[in-house]
Amino acid sequence: MAVQILTADVLVPMDAARSVLTDAGFAHEDGTILAVDSRAALVAAYPDARARHLSDNVLMPGLVNAHHHSGMLRGTAEHLPVWEWLRLHIDPMHRVLRPEEAEAASWLCYAEGLLSGTTTVVDMWRYMDGAARAASALGNRVVTVNYVGEHPDYDYFDTLDDNERMLAEWTGAAGGRIMPWVGLEHPFYADEAGQRRAIAMAQEYGTGLYTHCSESSLDVELFLERTGKRPMHALKDLGFMDVPRLMIAHAVWLDEGEIALMAEHGVSVSHNPVSNMKLASGFAPVAELLEAGIAVGIGTDGEKENNNLDMFEEMKVASLLGKLRAMDAAAMDSWAVLEMATRGGARAIGQGDRLGSLEVGKQADAVAVRTDTPRMTPLLAEGPYANIHHNLVHAVRGSDVTLTMVAGDVVVDGGALVHASLPDLIARVRDLVPDLFARRSAYLESSGEQQGLMSPH
Ligand SMILES: [Zn+2]
Repeated sequence: MAVQILTADVLVPMDAARSVLTDAGFAHEDGTILAVDSRAALVAAYPDARARHLSDNVLMPGLVNAHHHSGMLRGTAEHLPVWEWLRLHIDPMHRVLRPEEAEAASWLCYAEGLLSGTTTVVDMWRYMDGAARAASALGNRVVTVNYVGEHPDYDYFDTLDDNERMLAEWTGAAGGRIMPWVGLEHPFYADEAGQRRAIAMAQEYGTGLYTHCSESSLDVELFLERTGKRPMHALKDLGFMDVPRLMIAHAVWLDEGEIALMAEHGVSVSHNPVSNMKLASGFAPVAELLEAGIAVGIGTDGEKENNNLDMFEEMKVASLLGKLRAMDAAAMDSWAVLEMATRGGARAIGQGDRLGSLEVGKQADAVAVRTDTPRMTPLLAEGPYANIHHNLVHAVRGSDVTLTMVAGDVVVDGGALVHASLPDLIARVRDLVPDLFARRSAYLESSGEQQGLMSPH
């Protein structure tokens, strides 16, 4: 592929210096960034390159959604704390879910992500061949994390055999855009043999192990009751930290000793503020995690926990929640939030050298955000009132994304998908939902699950 140049009125490359450049962009070839510079310098350096300039746009790295579940339950499982929500809505859905439904959900959710600036998504979901097919076609990157239950009580989830097949068949596919990891819904969704095998698989394939943990205070109680230890200490003693990378979704309920242990073992975290607020899970100690040097990304969680997959909205909420938790308007500043959504998320998934910023040698994963809107006015790239970082976190919406590029391939242009028809993806989910809901209702009736509340696990 020949060299191409993409520039905009403003460039926020998210480099370590937190640079902001005007009338600038990058040159790329075969998906890799060759140069980051002013438009004039790029055109001079690559006079034969095909150059495209996006006026009234700011160019920044693609966002990394560090925690996500594809799904199609949006808005139908509201106003419940996490364990009841799992038992009454989510687990019954998993019992009846079919592969074609799982795949349709991934197509739609990845499309929603791309249209709002997400170029890499960590997706814990089911029947992940469909997810990998969706990402291959739509153009996003995906860390596939099978929703594994390897326990007699959770035998309706994916299995470690399914997960191992993903690792064997999809690692490196679609030019490296498909990145299979090992997943456990929760450490206790596997029995001891399952936990050992999950750890061994991550070691054998040199990949990450991903799980939900310390999301609600109940989680800590459960670990104390079963192991006599707080969750992170228990995970360490079970061997979960002996893998190339352990990543924890939520990590809300941690004490100081657990944070130190995570830092020591390179454990990374996805902070999911909307989900934590919506399910009333609590305030994650994000400032303390960052202070300890832990790689923290930001995630939307699923369509049922959020109820959208807009990483710009998630950044705003991360900022607001961090300020409220600290009772300090200066806490969780806009640059720190932008870093979590880009380079922090990339580091958290072990891709910090390839993704997360627009720098020479990294992948050409970029998004353009329109600036000719009331909410981006005024826009000051530099000077004492520079506000671009604040506007990107507090003002922009995902629908302001005009262009999304992954590995040099434009996958959203003019605010529309390039490689698929959005109306078709929506129609497919609309068609499938009634039957999925009917089967779930039938399961709930037959099991008597809807009556009374059982204690979790
Ligand atoms: Zn989740």
